[in-house]
Amino acid sequence: MTVRCRTKTRPPGDKLRDEMPATVTTATRTPNQLLVALPTLERDRLMAEAMSRFVEPGDVLYEVGQPLTAVYFPVTSVVSILTILGDGTAVETATIGREGMVGVFASLGDDLSPNARAVAQMGGELLVVDIRRFRHELRETGRLRALVDDYTRALLIHVSQSVACSAAHSVRQRLSRWLLQTSDRVTTDDVRLTHEFLAGILHARRASVTEALGELQGLGIVRTRRGGTVIIERAALEAEACECYDVIRQEYARLLPVEPSATYPATGTVSSTV
Ligand SMILES: [Zn+2]
Repeated sequence: MTVRCRTKTRPPGDKLRDEMPATVTTATRTPNQLLVALPTLERDRLMAEAMSRFVEPGDVLYEVGQPLTAVYFPVTSVVSILTILGDGTAVETATIGREGMVGVFASLGDDLSPNARAVAQMGGELLVVDIRRFRHELRETGRLRALVDDYTRALLIHVSQSVACSAAHSVRQRLSRWLLQTSDRVTTDDVRLTHEFLAGILHARRASVTEALGELQGLGIVRTRRGGTVIIERAALEAEACECYDVIRQEYARLLPVEPSATYPATGTVSSTV
């Protein structure tokens, strides 16, 4: 599959200066699986004016209360959807990688996010599609509509399960789930995030995250290093994770046509440096 993207020239220092090569060949890159599932003609129309962008951890894709101007298809990046409370507390309710898209509520006719912010949690590439183009193609093409509807259903399960997970499961269980689901999305066992960032994502104390990682490392399941964690024994980590990991993974596999990691190289191109 080839995805063609528009390139633009921007002045030095512009936030979008890393926009991209005009062509992405998925034989050599980790593709977005929603795009892979589209018929070629539909995909080419949707991507006709798309741009590629490289994001760094912490980059905001959409903000609470601001109109959405584009939707995003992660390729090698991973994005957190954070629910923002009145005192500024941010709690992650979903993780989105190459299996999905960011801004799916645009398909429901609304372009405002009243309570959520989308933030890059792992750096890398995503494809940016103008919201008008996205909605036009939703109206024009049958497969995109059906695919986005299926993805929305899986994401709803993901969000509701995450809410229950935060309320009922331990930091160690949630940490294990999070490492696994992020590893699935970047197709590497090297998850490059600091303890501090993990604590924020899990809405837990940093000391609790450090303690849980130390326990997992003591069991030989993971190896921590500066700025990241490497999964050593995946099956053992799955046994440590709460049931939420399997519930969410199985819903994506049931509703979406491509099993994550089934057909692509087991190497990621993550550029996170936190
Ligand atoms: Zn859980």
